[in-house]
Amino acid sequence: MAGSTVSSETAVDKPKQADLDRCVHCGLCLNACPTYRQLGVEMDSPRGRIYQMVQVSQGAPITESYMEHMDLCLACRACETACPSGVEYGRLIEAARAEMDPHVRRSWVARLTRRFVFGHLLQSPGTMTAIGSLLYLYQASGLQKLVRLSGVLKLMGKLGQLEQLSPPAEIPFFFSKIGKTFPAEGERRYRVAFLAGCIANVSFASLNEATVRVLQRNGCEVVIPGGQNCCGALHVHSGIRDEARKLARRNIDAVLSGNFDAVISNAAGCGSTLKEYDELLEHDAEYAEKAGQFVRLTKDVSEFLASIELNPKMGAVQATATYQDSCHLLHGQKIKTAPRKLLAQVPGLEFREMPMADICCGSAGIYNVLQNEMSMEVLVAKMGSVNSTGAQWVVTANPGCMLQLEAGARLYGAKQRVLHVVEVLDEAYGLYGK
Ligand code: SF4
Ligand code: SF4
Repeated sequence: MAGSTVSSETAVDKPKQADLDRCVHCGLCLNACPTYRQLGVEMDSPRGRIYQMVQVSQGAPITESYMEHMDLCLACRACETACPSGVEYGRLIEAARAEMDPHVRRSWVARLTRRFVFGHLLQSPGTMTAIGSLLYLYQASGLQKLVRLSGVLKLMGKLGQLEQLSPPAEIPFFFSKIGKTFPAEGERRYRVAFLAGCIANVSFASLNEATVRVLQRNGCEVVIPGGQNCCGALHVHSGIRDEARKLARRNIDAVLSGNFDAVISNAAGCGSTLKEYDELLEHDAEYAEKAGQFVRLTKDVSEFLASIELNPKMGAVQATATYQDSCHLLHGQKIKTAPRKLLAQVPGLEFREMPMADICCGSAGIYNVLQNEMSMEVLVAKMGSVNSTGAQWVVTANPGCMLQLEAGARLYGAKQRVLHVVEVLDEAYGLYGK
């Protein structure tokens, strides 16, 4: 079905000239860029990266140095929000990475790992369940706690730092809910599809369940469509666009015939990619129009809930909270007020805006694994902002940011509790009448 289409698509996976031409090199994006703020190096700024992409588009070779500067970009898209010329930097960096991918020299271990993770693991509920179960044993047996307290992680260098970012395994895994329908509480106002993600089925099962409950409380019949799979965001961010297209087609097939009022995601990074399926499949004769329909239906859960009349039957949570903008919600999906509007409706919650909430926390998909050093530098700065508020809770809108902020709270913070916006709502609904 997609064979010939894919090869013709591959030819256009490089920055488009029209997108590059929009940059007028004014530099107004520089201060918004976390890597430029840390390093002060022009080539690690948005303007510098675009300049290098222009050089490549004019025939300059793709060098190791070029690839390093592109890899060090968080793809947080803060520069996109800051840019007065409407440069769509997210498209540029994703296309630049796709273009440079064949030039990247990888060891055989890295090649195998990459093939396993992107080609198999993220698409296989069976393998994720097996690995998730081992992770659960490591965590639930108390071994993780012992390892962390023993100080051995400090001796393990990078591996030890990565362990601090390992996601929780939460049983029962959410895979068991796929294919099921959950009725609306009270009168049915909407029928929505929920896309549960891939790793989130193992590591954020409770967040997914909270999302379903909150939607039900707000009059939604929630369908978890069978046939859904990973959204392809990590593939897109890593330049593996053809694999992402396969996943996109499957998700489109899973939901388009369901007569839904909305397709909901609770992960800002996934939602951002789901909303760009039309661009990903623009040269696919069979799917281009379907992708447009899919994108029009897709909503982040905060965006959806803030657009409807919220069920006010919540109890008081009695906490102080600050909010960290998830880059792919704020800069990718341009959603700033919706989560704040929802938090403002939670009884007993005292909200404290943090300085520079719109700057990345350093998570950025799997950036914190691939570029751990820079990610930690960005996280230390972020926790300075969080700590300055004195808030007990740090609320955000993306599972990856939650993991990063949990590590931040543990290592550089005051052990603040980290929650997703819908978890705050879920907690308040649970307290109603108590
Ligand atoms: S990306 Fe935008 S803000 Fe940055 S240098 Fe180019 S035109 Fe200016
Ligand atoms: S996406 Fe983020 S890290 Fe990359 S150039 Fe833009 S602001 Fe800097």
